[in-house]
Amino acid sequence: MVIGAGAVGVACAHYLLEEGFGVTLIDRGEVGRGCSYANAGLICPAHSEALPGPGIVAEGLRALLRRDGPFTIRPRAGPSLAPWLLRFWRHTPEPIYRRSTEALVALSRLSFELYEELVRAGVASFGYRRGPLLAASRSPEWRREAEAVVGEVRSLGFEGRVLEREELLELEPALAPDHRGGYLLEDQGSGDSYRYVRSVAEHARSRGAEVLERTPVRRILVRRGRAAAALAGDPPREIAADLVVLAAGAWSPALARDLGLRLPIQPATGYSTTIPAPEGGPRHPVIVGDSRVIVLPLEGRIRFAGTLELAGFRRGPDPVRQRAVVRAGLSALREPPPVREAEPWFGFRPLMPDDLPAIGWAPGVEGALVATGHGTLGFTQGPATGKLVAELAAGKPPSLDLSPFRPDRF
Ligand SMILES: Cc1cc2nc3c(=O)[nH]c(=O)nc-3n(C[C@H](O)[C@H](O)[C@H](O)COP(=O)(O)OP(=O)(O)OC[C@H]3O[C@@H](n4cnc5c(N)ncnc54)[C@H](O)[C@@H]3O)c2cc1C
Repeated sequence: MVIGAGAVGVACAHYLLEEGFGVTLIDRGEVGRGCSYANAGLICPAHSEALPGPGIVAEGLRALLRRDGPFTIRPRAGPSLAPWLLRFWRHTPEPIYRRSTEALVALSRLSFELYEELVRAGVASFGYRRGPLLAASRSPEWRREAEAVVGEVRSLGFEGRVLEREELLELEPALAPDHRGGYLLEDQGSGDSYRYVRSVAEHARSRGAEVLERTPVRRILVRRGRAAAALAGDPPREIAADLVVLAAGAWSPALARDLGLRLPIQPATGYSTTIPAPEGGPRHPVIVGDSRVIVLPLEGRIRFAGTLELAGFRRGPDPVRQRAVVRAGLSALREPPPVREAEPWFGFRPLMPDDLPAIGWAPGVEGALVATGHGTLGFTQGPATGKLVAELAAGKPPSLDLSPFRPDRF
């Protein structure tokens, strides 16, 4: 049984089927309507650096002063935030940042390979594109910033280069001409995350998986030290399971408690707005300067996505931040299109304090695997996570060292 049908849960379902398991995939809503719905769509091993790192604290504090900035903390986030922030801060020193980033990059690289296979095999169909990821800046500091990113990316074994203004605009003529320069990361992926989730779930269904939507799991039932069933649905009924995979994104901590596990996940809100693609719109995904907003070309549509806000589970969007994302995206374009037939959205990234996901067996309970906490990279890292979970379930040695992702590390 897999709880949660987002980018991570559907990948777990797929790879468990590959290993010969029978699968029930359960979601309290519709498949793919959680955080995996309208994200920035990047599959980006080269941009898989850990969030806590040297410089983030100063940058974060500066950004905090701006309600429309790329990063903010709201007082409403609740009492769990202070200890979370302390843990986050403890992961900012360079050696820890480097270790975390290497672990994240390894996970993203594995996913990148798996995406190729999933698309080639017809398991996933979501307008997948491979090509350069661009960043464009108007800042007078653009060259220093671009050189730092490119240096970092090369040290991790990826190809990247600084782009002078002319080359940037030649590569992406849809960008506004007042950009000063930017950088390019070779060979990254992108696509429509929602279509990805739906196609993988549909494929799983066609191979015999049972997909239960609108079926909230209220509790994971542990009997004699073993995860035995889920209490789910309305009215609640017991659904028995030989194996439980917890992949409920930002909502995982409540169910993890049934397994005796504390998962310090904060919901980190992000926003996007999707509109019909304008004539002559961008051909590449672009990271927009200071705002870090992503402009994502999709088939027939264009999406502006970004910001990270620690504000707990908010009921509705913050209109200031929602507008700021659209404004940043539009202002990057030479001919900003009218915002019509817009689909605004916000979602909760499941963010651990070290920005590493939790992947592995729940300690102390048999038959329970954890696959959650992917923060800003869950779309990128879904397939690798699914593969690793299935390998563990099948008793095979995992393709990657899982020690950095131990679910009980906090
Ligand atoms: C603005 C924005 C931009 C982003 N851009 C990128 C990007 O470019 N690249 C990238 O890699 N990542 C990106 N991300 C992050 C990525 O979207 C997330 O990391 C990823 O979607 C998490 O996937 P998930 O499957 O863990 O969670 P979700 O997609 O949230 O899925 C969890 C599912 O569990 C279900 N669930 C919860 N509780 C229960 C319960 N009790 N019973 C049953 N079901 C339950 C939910 O309904 C949900 O469907 C972005 C996020 C945001 C917000």
